[in-house]
Amino acid sequence: SPAQGTGQPDTARSAALAARASRVIPGGVNSPVRAYGSVGGTPRFLVSGRGPYVTDADGTEYVDLVASWGPALLGHAQPEVIAAVQAAAARGLGFGASVPEEAELAEEIIRRVPLIERLRLVSTGTEATMTAIRLARGATGRPLIIKFAGHYHGHSDGLLAEAGSGLATLALPGSAGVTAETAGQTLVLPYNDLPALEAAFAEHGDRIAGVIAEAAAANMGVLPPEPGFTRGMIELAHRHGALVIIDEVLTGFRSGPSGYWGLQAAGATGEDFPEGVAPDLFTFGKVVGGGLPLAALGGRAELMDLLAPLGPVYQAGTLSGNPVAVAAGLTTLRLADAAAYARLATAADTLALSVSEALTSAGVAHRIARAGTLFSVAFGDYERAPRTYADMQRQDVVKHRAFFHAMLAGGVNLPPSAFEAWFVTAAHDDAALERIARVLPAAAVAAARAEG
Ligand code: PLP
Repeated sequence: SPAQGTGQPDTARSAALAARASRVIPGGVNSPVRAYGSVGGTPRFLVSGRGPYVTDADGTEYVDLVASWGPALLGHAQPEVIAAVQAAAARGLGFGASVPEEAELAEEIIRRVPLIERLRLVSTGTEATMTAIRLARGATGRPLIIKFAGHYHGHSDGLLAEAGSGLATLALPGSAGVTAETAGQTLVLPYNDLPALEAAFAEHGDRIAGVIAEAAAANMGVLPPEPGFTRGMIELAHRHGALVIIDEVLTGFRSGPSGYWGLQAAGATGEDFPEGVAPDLFTFGKVVGGGLPLAALGGRAELMDLLAPLGPVYQAGTLSGNPVAVAAGLTTLRLADAAAYARLATAADTLALSVSEALTSAGVAHRIARAGTLFSVAFGDYERAPRTYADMQRQDVVKHRAFFHAMLAGGVNLPPSAFEAWFVTAAHDDAALERIARVLPAAAVAAARAEG
């Protein structure tokens, strides 16, 4: 393919499509990061995917490290997932009534995260976290929510403050259109800072409904909680009668078979959680929908049964539990067995090592952060491992931009932002990893030469 040659890939069709889209869609995109705002250049319009590869409108094939921003755990167009989706679609796209497979998907998720007794399916991660927060407020009768700077929980009004993801890319602290009253109900604290959390509880303890945290932060680059932080957060919240919501929309069933909490609870992160020290609610998205719009929230029966129709906390959705999305999610999770996670882990290990070696040989200062099979590369001269949003924001975005474009020209599709995880899939085999490895040295040199 042209991207593998020495020249720049042809982008004429993508450029024409971007111009056309920009006339009818704000910024030409339906989600901001797709606009290449922080890296510049022509956003690639993708027309197909297969395993670890995607192909753009100009016919150039790339090794993909975006994976639909997480859902494509098994790679693109996985044949069994596509067959299940086609079979479900042929039976009808949805009826606004329950279908048998919804409970099967809930059972599969509960099998992986046994703390969950009841699960509600929704269509997006944003809905899952928004509902979890309403539930925390409904259960406690308290108004305030604590979130951490750099953690992204979707785009509902109360959760946009200092939220990472596209907001990190655009360097926005929040969003216009969110009232001061709404923003004032969210306390934003520095991540990995238990004294700050303790102070917030000391001051507002009896008004705090819950604390929401990404299981491991992955929307400002990957930044796992320091050992002791999650446990301290849960203990503090519970001491003050507040609930803990662990957002596994990104990490769930990706960073490991039971999500990042599963790794923590199993002792794989070097932490220790005494009996009873556990989150109250979990949110999932991305992988649970296998690439179609589907997300979920779950927790103990006593809490979840506060949702309508049993309880007073209202929540609903025309397309919730949609049979086509359920088929994609259920088939993906059933195929995501130990062997698939082993392939993911190998791909992440191999890639993280080869990126680091290439950058080191070119003299580019960087830090690789890992959370299970998730990782990201922070460009910058860090004396110690980054631990807060402020640390991540100090990244050298000029070096990232040069690196990104050199990789793209060489046929590797990286997330177009310095503040995102790199997503491998179980389909990233040796051939795909070798293709990436061939491009890395030149991209590292491009990063070395780029000066801000
Ligand atoms: N929570 C986390 C941790 C996420 O990473 C995301 C999306 O990236 C969301 C929530 C929002 O999910 P969605 O984009 O499906 O609304």
